[in-house]
Amino acid sequence: SKWVYTFGDGRAEGRAEMKNLLGGKGANLAEMSAIGLPVPAGFTITTEVCTHYYANGRQYPAELTAAVEAGIAHIEQIMGAGFGNATNPLLVSVRSGARASMPGMMDTVLNLGLNDVTVAGLIASSGDARFGWDSYRRFIQMYSDVVLGIDHHHFEELLEDLKSDRGYDLDTELQADDWKELVSAYKGKVQEKLGRPFPDDPREQLWGAVGAVFSSWMNQRAITYRRLHDIPESWGTAVNVQAMVFGNMGDDCATGVAFTRDPSTGENVFYGEYLINAQGEDVVAGIRTPQHLTVVGKDRNHSTLPAMEEAMPEMFAELDRIRHVLEKHYRDMQDMEFTIQRNKLWMLQTRNGKRTSAAALKIAIDFAHEGLISHQEAVLRVDPAQLDQLLHPMLDPNAPRTILTTGLPASPGAASGRVVFTAEDAEDWARRGEKVILVRIETSPEDIGGMHVAEGILTSRGGMTSHAAVVARGMGRPCVAGAGSVRINYAEKVMTILGREIKEGDTVTLDGSSGQVIAGEVPTIQPELTGDFGTLMEWADAVRRLKVRANAETPTDARTARSFGAEGIGLCRTEHMFFDPKRIIHVRQMILAQDEAGRRQALDKLLPYQREDFVELFTIMQGLPVTIRLLDPPLHEFLPHTEEDMREVAEAAGVDVKAVRSAAIALSESNPMLGHRGCRLGVTYPEIYEMQAIAIFEAAVQASKATGQTVVPEIMIPLVATRRELDLMKVVVDAAASKVFGATGVTLDYAVGTMIELPRAALRAGEIAESAEFFSFGTNDLTQTTLGISRDDSAHFLETYQRKGIYEKDPFASLDQEGVGELVQIAAERGRKTRAGLKLGICGEHGGDPASIHFCEQTGLDYVSCSPFRVPIARLAAAQAAL
Ligand code: ADP
Ligand code: MG
Ligand code: MG
Repeated sequence: SKWVYTFGDGRAEGRAEMKNLLGGKGANLAEMSAIGLPVPAGFTITTEVCTHYYANGRQYPAELTAAVEAGIAHIEQIMGAGFGNATNPLLVSVRSGARASMPGMMDTVLNLGLNDVTVAGLIASSGDARFGWDSYRRFIQMYSDVVLGIDHHHFEELLEDLKSDRGYDLDTELQADDWKELVSAYKGKVQEKLGRPFPDDPREQLWGAVGAVFSSWMNQRAITYRRLHDIPESWGTAVNVQAMVFGNMGDDCATGVAFTRDPSTGENVFYGEYLINAQGEDVVAGIRTPQHLTVVGKDRNHSTLPAMEEAMPEMFAELDRIRHVLEKHYRDMQDMEFTIQRNKLWMLQTRNGKRTSAAALKIAIDFAHEGLISHQEAVLRVDPAQLDQLLHPMLDPNAPRTILTTGLPASPGAASGRVVFTAEDAEDWARRGEKVILVRIETSPEDIGGMHVAEGILTSRGGMTSHAAVVARGMGRPCVAGAGSVRINYAEKVMTILGREIKEGDTVTLDGSSGQVIAGEVPTIQPELTGDFGTLMEWADAVRRLKVRANAETPTDARTARSFGAEGIGLCRTEHMFFDPKRIIHVRQMILAQDEAGRRQALDKLLPYQREDFVELFTIMQGLPVTIRLLDPPLHEFLPHTEEDMREVAEAAGVDVKAVRSAAIALSESNPMLGHRGCRLGVTYPEIYEMQAIAIFEAAVQASKATGQTVVPEIMIPLVATRRELDLMKVVVDAAASKVFGATGVTLDYAVGTMIELPRAALRAGEIAESAEFFSFGTNDLTQTTLGISRDDSAHFLETYQRKGIYEKDPFASLDQEGVGELVQIAAERGRKTRAGLKLGICGEHGGDPASIHFCEQTGLDYVSCSPFRVPIARLAAAQAAL
């Protein structure tokens, strides 16, 4: 096995495709080096070493020592310096790098290789004693924190002590001798804490850091992150060891981070931040205010500090050239890290940049227009789940708002919620069903859980590339970062914004697109669905095979569905129409009736309402298919629960209130999900289904005349287990059709089909298809009945089930493809064997879930039906499934 891959000086043993072996960072360092970009020489210890390490009781492979030595020699040769050399020392960074970028892993250690001997060499070769001792103390602090586990605050205290001793305010006031003194104080602290000295030997330092990277793979933070993001433990992490370059050797030095395009909007502008005379993470640490790369960025963010374009024009030009090289090469927006050492630019990292949904969309479309990718690739570039954010409301621009302050627009979208100040509180409150806004001075990887459940995130410190900003964009949470006028008091759980106090639990609104922090809740409006969004949908529609319908019963839902491009209604739940206050009284009257005559009387009153509903739906849908499910829920759901309601019903029905009460008792079931519902109602009270069918046909006739479009109603019988049930109901529906067609003189096509939502129905599908003209998989009930798990009672244990790997995902959100999926496959196969053209659709919650949509594509269903807001997601997911 080859355990170590080198890179540098225009060559590399690895490539970008080798992310599994080299981790993302290592693979891209190799790639950049191979295509001739300036990358400090280094080597990558592979993820297989990590796997080997854990498989063998934390032992390295025997050949690793020699391979690492060869790697060091490779760097030494290119850099012309020696690791541990007294006059010309080589310093390195040790950087972790998994396949997917992963917070929770070991932090990078910089300046490794320094000790009392090599520091003299560094001072001699740089000609800068202050720089030398500053680098040394940074190294001790970082290494002690990250590798030795001595918290950095111990070192910060020593620094503060020294500053107050000397009467200094700023770190910049410290002289070489001060830093030198601090180095020995730091070492004393390490001795005190560990009972042994800080390691002097560069090789011991190196192996300590390498070991720390591999150990961090199994720390709690990393484990949690992997669980949240479905990253398998078996992947392991790689370790990168790389020659140091210094951005902190003077004013011709700098360090920074950049995106090849604006990660918030996707606009084709160079976007980034840098600091002159600074090292590594100074930029994201929020200690100094970073400066912008371009004048545009500077103006936009009202910065007064010079842009890199102005301060270092030649270096900027070189960086801008590399920006274009990287975009062309990777054919995607890049997020890069760079350092300038004495007017020489070095690239330290590149990767596909995290971006907001809006940016993802714009970048995909622009890259296709620029000829960098095809239309189909553009379709594959946008994550359907991310699209969700674009479909959700933004703040109503005309609504009044009390702006408390404006921070950086770090992640767009709007959110209101109650303020909490810790990630833990966010999780607690969210569990109670509260919408929360997480407010922090700055965030760190420990806060991930809280950020996940928060509606939005507000920080008082940090820039557009701070942890909060990057993570929020990835999660699609609105985020306002670096709102400097927000003063947070964690102890008292309050924040003060320009004199105004906001306590825990107070409601605020964040507008992540403008950076505004607003008091109270602000109303929102629907987003635009044209432009790039429309283009992407067009390209998606061009490749997808599955049709997409919506689950809708109200005119509003139907209109939304149409505006999102639904190609019909896959599920219209008629019972929702019964709850209207004008109708519920007749529904209850029907339920309370003693005999068929009484029921028919009430049903006659309901009929015109039902007809009206359907006329409106058919009219909105303009001849597109509409599948109407006849009454499904158990009747007691319609009965009154309060005494007052019972009295009212009794009066209207002309019965005693006792009768109402006893009816409610009589109708209550111990397991209503498996009780008197679905077609079982139609079997016992055919007149209910008869009324609904008449209403549907009369409406179809009326709407066909009015719109000039022929309506073809699809009538769906729920909860069928046997063919006989369906046959009985079909007789009722057919009779209603003849009656209406006879009376109106108009004959229309219609279809009678069934939901497949019971395992028996799936198994007997061959027989059922003799009567059914279509199947619609009701995967909500089919999941409940197949798994024997009630959706309403399972939330608390399903979480444990997922954690223990019993069901990988919530089976009610994403189809259990192995179990429920097999029933769907069986039913599809058996049904189509009987009736070749049998139309198949899915109408459960799963119809809007991308993974389930892939399954529907593979199974050869004709359409998916989902909630109106998810229609575009389903269109995109269906396209991706077809590609
Ligand atoms: P992360 O994965 O957290 O981004 P990195 O390994 O990229 O960690 O390191 C963080 C920062 O440390 C980099 O952005 C860079 O500024 C600095 N750094 C890492 N390696 C070197 C190096 N060889 N020379 C100079 N700076 C470095
Ligand atoms: Mg980095
Ligand atoms: Mg059902």
